[in-house]
Amino acid sequence: MIEYGTSPDRAQQLSNAALAMMSELGVIAHPNNYTIFFNYLSGEEPDLTQTIDILRSNNREFDELRCRDLFARFFDTVNEREIVTRITDDLRNQLTSVLETVRNAGIDTRAYGEALDHFCEYIGDKDFTNLEQALKTLLGATREIEGVNRILETRLDNTSTEISKLRRDLEDMKREAMTDCLTGIANRKAFDLQLRDCAMQSMETGKPLSLLLIDIDYFKTFNDTHGHQAGDQVIRLMAQTLQQNVKGRDTAARYGGEEFAVILPMTGLGCARQLAEHIRHNVETRTIISRTRHQELGKVTVSIGVSTFEFGEPLARFIERADQALYLAKAKGRNRVATERQITDGNKVIRTLDITAPEPKKQRCA
Ligand code: GH3
Ligand code: MG
Ligand code: MG
Repeated sequence: MIEYGTSPDRAQQLSNAALAMMSELGVIAHPNNYTIFFNYLSGEEPDLTQTIDILRSNNREFDELRCRDLFARFFDTVNEREIVTRITDDLRNQLTSVLETVRNAGIDTRAYGEALDHFCEYIGDKDFTNLEQALKTLLGATREIEGVNRILETRLDNTSTEISKLRRDLEDMKREAMTDCLTGIANRKAFDLQLRDCAMQSMETGKPLSLLLIDIDYFKTFNDTHGHQAGDQVIRLMAQTLQQNVKGRDTAARYGGEEFAVILPMTGLGCARQLAEHIRHNVETRTIISRTRHQELGKVTVSIGVSTFEFGEPLARFIERADQALYLAKAKGRNRVATERQITDGNKVIRTLDITAPEPKKQRCA
């Protein structure tokens, strides 16, 4: 969370400079874009500053798509904020209750101090007549403070257990918020975040980054023929197949409905296409067996579009190229892989027609 602990003069300067820069770069002056450039100039968010510096040094345009990407990456964190607020509230309650106990202990400590002073007076007077009574009082006060300390210890023990539980809850909630409930793989939100991180890393390291968009062919017909439950089973099977075919640094995600995506860091277009072909072949060779009716339901196939990231481009454009390639694979008959090389950027005109036809299984590049 960004803190605006700056002086009014400095805020005014930043505000003027942000508006001037937006105007110079042709950025539309709405609040989200203003937030981006105000924070960029303030330097409060080093990752944002670094990203914009890279984009500017590459003379990239700050059009609406790019600005939307930047805002979503650095400022649109409503979900996380809700989770953090919940956890913080729980924690605050815990600490309030500990403070209450400590405060009570403070009062009893003072009572103990008074008993001790009283006892010292007897010793000072060398008057032993009431010593027995004084000792009894002191012992009572000591036992009392021991008791309070024990309560305090127990309370602190409980609190630390509770805090550990809250930490686990936070991790579970974060995991849940990023997981698709039908398949257990990454959901669209996780995909968006992961793609942004991978794009940043790709720009930093200069290593390629590729993307597969995968869509089940004629899935509506499959659902209509075999029922929605069998359809769900296919979606789960598809997620499993993807997970079995991607490496540790790759991310397989459910992109929506019957569409999936695979993010492939450190992978160029050629290797991404080979992996896509491998996945396509793997799906084609499986036979779907109904779990409930224990009968063969036939086969399903997928079409896959492949694109590779151009440093500094808006992510929406990177995804759109994979989507156009997918559209092309569908148009050419389905159960195919097509890459961005086969489309022209922008107007979806087909450049070449050498679409990958079904071919034997290939090994994935390193
Ligand atoms: P195409 O080859 O062009 O992709 O055809 P299609 O039938 O697969 O595409 P279309 O977009 O017409 O239909 C997609 C179908 O996917 C419709 C919808 O009922 C189904 N679907 C989407 N999400 C789910 C899901 O979670 N479970 C099930 N069972 N079906 C789903
Ligand atoms: Mg679809
Ligand atoms: Mg489909």
